[in-house]
Amino acid sequence: MALPRLLFLSLGGTITMVPSDSGGIAPKLGAAELVASVPALKDVAQIDAQSPFKLPSPSLTPEKILDVARQLEAAFRSGFDGAVVIQGTDTIEESAFLLDLLVTGDKPVVVTGAMRGADAPGADGPANLLAAARVAASPEARGLGTLAVLNYDIHAARFVQKSHTALPSAFLSPLTGPLGVVAEGRTQIYCRVQRNPTLPIADGTPVPIALVKVPMGDDGRMLKDLPKLGYAGAVIEGMGAGHVHADVAPILGELASNIPVVLSSRSMTGPVFTSTYGYPGAEIDLIKRGLVPSGYLSGLKARLLLSLCVRKGSGGVSAAFAPYQ
Ligand code: ASP
Repeated sequence: MALPRLLFLSLGGTITMVPSDSGGIAPKLGAAELVASVPALKDVAQIDAQSPFKLPSPSLTPEKILDVARQLEAAFRSGFDGAVVIQGTDTIEESAFLLDLLVTGDKPVVVTGAMRGADAPGADGPANLLAAARVAASPEARGLGTLAVLNYDIHAARFVQKSHTALPSAFLSPLTGPLGVVAEGRTQIYCRVQRNPTLPIADGTPVPIALVKVPMGDDGRMLKDLPKLGYAGAVIEGMGAGHVHADVAPILGELASNIPVVLSSRSMTGPVFTSTYGYPGAEIDLIKRGLVPSGYLSGLKARLLLSLCVRKGSGGVSAAFAPYQ
């Protein structure tokens, strides 16, 4: 039987990095070299390896990920069965969620990377590439949207977070745990997520959305300037279940009368509340003032959903966040 056809797109990241002349490690390897370094891949899939970027992932942008989504859609239309996107781990939780929001259909898109450079002892890149390919090639992974596969864990894009700066086990889904694992070379899915609505790639570039974490005692003085700075919306990472100082609540209400404002939490995980706390600056007050709760989406992920959903005007924000409540 013919092996599945997979597209490998490498965007860069530590998995592609080796020591550079200027000191430290920097992106160098392309997708073809990465694939060649893992001979077992040839038993998993027929692979077309391309390298649209060779960047550290802090230099990726939503525009670039939109380009990647376009390439994935074209590849799936032309008969590829799945795809592996290789990139730096710093922004995997954002890229994976953007792709989840943009790429239609049920073919698996798997994002992976590595915490250790390509030349480092115990480099985790080769094992992650092989595991990612196994998941992308497997029928079990169909219909789950974009996944992140690292350290043999299979995470849903909407839940995955980078939780450590150094360890190969850095990726967690703190709210739910991973959907499954790759064990004995087999993709084992223990729980499934429904696909949430995608947003059209054709609607164009994501718009700038500010992400503001609320620290104790901050008076919110920067908030009123956000529209002047060109932000088309804002995500506020409130305290706990979605709270701010009482004096900041009217400033946020004023902001929400100008641009869409989404309320998420600066806590590591858990849903933003909607109906528990009744004091000024708590979630009931902020929602009454026009803020839209992000549900279980982290601030980073809520910012991306908002940046896609307001491309054509400021409507439809509550509906876009409804599936995540
Ligand atoms: N700074 C690197 C990057 O995100 C980290 C990594 O790939 O693990 O490109």
